Amino acid sequence: MLGNKFKEIITNLENHIQDKNDLDYAKKQVTDLTMSFLDELGKIEELYDHKISHCVERITDLEKELDKLEEEQNMSMNHTEEALDVEPITCPYCNTRFLIEFNSKQKEVKCPDCKNIIELDWENFEDDDM
Ligand SMILES: [Zn+2]
Repeated sequence: MLGNKFKEIITNLENHIQDKNDLDYAKKQVTDLTMSFLDELGKIEELYDHKISHCVERITDLEKELDKLEEEQNMSMNHTEEALDVEPITCPYCNTRFLIEFNSKQKEVKCPDCKNIIELDWENFEDDDM
């Protein structure tokens, strides 16, 4: 596009300027102007390339962050599943049902409702799972 326009202008100059020195001078001016434009364009292109590569870097960073978040989410989901290893308890005193986390070392639990101590029998719970 630019090349065609350049040729067109040079042809116009050649057709309209009779004096050879004037023609050469005009051609040189147009060429200088075109070159400085191309130079500017090159600089702008370089600047955009720089900006684009900066954006690509940012996107790569963000993708990494996203991967990390996904990983963390997966891990916390696994963790939640572990934490969901709970057992339903029915209080023998007031029949309140509640959940406690599985812990075979824990031998008793306090009912959140009537505050009575309930003895735990993990063996039975484990049998239920089978
Ligand atoms: Zn109770």
